Amino acid sequence: MEDNRYIDTRGCVTEPVEFTEAVINGLADGGGLYVPMNIPQLTIDDICALAKLPYAQRAASIYRAFGVNLPAQTIDELMGQAYGSNFDDERICPITSLDANTHVLELWHGPTSAFKDMALQCLPRFFSASASQLREQGRLDHDFLILVATSGDTGKAALEGFRDLDHVSISVMYPDGGVSDIQYRQMATQRGGNVNVWGVRGNFDDCQTGAKNVFGDEKFAAKLLAEHGMSLSSANSINWGRLLPQVVYYVSAYAQLVADGKLSAGDPLDVCVPTGNFGNILAAYYAKRMGTPIDMLLCASNENRVLTDFINTGTYDVSDRPFVLTPSPSMDILVSSNLERQLFELTDRNAQAIAEWMSDLKTKRRFRVDEETFKRVREHFAADSVDNSECLRTIKEVLDKHDYLLDPHTAVAYRAAQNLRGENPVLIASTAHWAKFGNNVYRALHDMEPGEPLPADVEALSGCQLNELVAQESGHHDVPRGLAELDELPIRFTEVIDGTTADIEHATEQFLAALQQ
Ligand SMILES: *Cc1c(COP(=O)(O)O)cnc(C)c1O
Repeated sequence: MEDNRYIDTRGCVTEPVEFTEAVINGLADGGGLYVPMNIPQLTIDDICALAKLPYAQRAASIYRAFGVNLPAQTIDELMGQAYGSNFDDERICPITSLDANTHVLELWHGPTSAFKDMALQCLPRFFSASASQLREQGRLDHDFLILVATSGDTGKAALEGFRDLDHVSISVMYPDGGVSDIQYRQMATQRGGNVNVWGVRGNFDDCQTGAKNVFGDEKFAAKLLAEHGMSLSSANSINWGRLLPQVVYYVSAYAQLVADGKLSAGDPLDVCVPTGNFGNILAAYYAKRMGTPIDMLLCASNENRVLTDFINTGTYDVSDRPFVLTPSPSMDILVSSNLERQLFELTDRNAQAIAEWMSDLKTKRRFRVDEETFKRVREHFAADSVDNSECLRTIKEVLDKHDYLLDPHTAVAYRAAQNLRGENPVLIASTAHWAKFGNNVYRALHDMEPGEPLPADVEALSGCQLNELVAQESGHHDVPRGLAELDELPIRFTEVIDGTTADIEHATEQFLAALQQ
């Protein structure tokens, strides 16, 4: 096994840590993000050889290359569980080619039909195994409660990922009345003995603020530890353990395209990613750095185009930028946390520059990178944004032209790829099944505008019934079982709480008390 340790993007960690500790800590001391000291290098033969293995073994092989400090057998077992029959396609993330040079990497075959499953079927198992290891080494003496505030998709994927694991329980808060019928049912019917779900009176911002306040309450932390032997963790998208599984599918996809005769080994490939927190596209960058022949990284934004503007100008500016609601809500973001890792790499790991820019972002709500860094950004990235109407028109256009149904996030990426692409073949990251966003797919099929009210008879349908209708009208009868059966599953969680620190803490303690009975 290769040895590898983790340093942080702001230069505060003096003693580099191992993978298991980076996963348990999440955020590094000083507020920076963990990155591996060494990026392993693969030859084109190493990469192409992956195609002979099942996906779980491809993933295990990349983890070993990164020097993950768990026994090889444990890595194999955890990967077998993460990428097995919980996915509805044994290829895990199959590729559909729309034409000879346009390939769609379907990242939504997991249990919740969202691309978040690719990371959240994997990270929780490694989190739990890391906790076990640190306990055995006598370096940890408590368990964890994962607390998640969600606007919809992440919550379900996290619940499903952490369900019934050792040393960890999970509570998810969503804005009551602020998520779709499908999203609500996905969470409220969640199985598992260590899970809990609350609706919160308020919007997503209230949920997030509530969670943040609870995380910041040291007295509460001390009480949880003393009375329940628990400490809070967020397992959010800045955790290295969520990023690494995403590196796997870009290396794997390249190998697969070669094995399928769609690329010759060594041919350049552009990758287009519908981007929010910058995790997915950063994973493609790391795959490139490992030796995968990826040429340009195409960053697709919706109307919240802060990243597109940054890539095109070198200035990241949220000082006067409204937050816009779009049909692709998982990309509705202003502060994109994983960009910090990208800049760290593009400055040849200049922690001082990163610390300054992040401090500017906090105090002035903007920062500008130096000319050399901007040049490097332009060498690797191109970016475009797609407005809400164009997003829905693209869904219809691709259905008519290729008989393929895109969700709104993937539609943004498809349109941006068409606008930005050059000679190279393009791999488009598809991040959700269309049936998670049936209402906007319905609008697209009916040439409606985003936000236009649905006809009364359609509005009256449940999410499942609406998906049935869209399936009939489009001829795509591929609604995943986990979504199709939601109307039939019993609702387990009905509690709605206020979003104040005290209310969340009270509900948390009640959940833990019930767990420990
Ligand atoms: C989370 C998410 C994204 C954004 O991915 P990042 O890694 O945050 O850039 C895009 N599409 C969907 C459907 C998502 O759930």
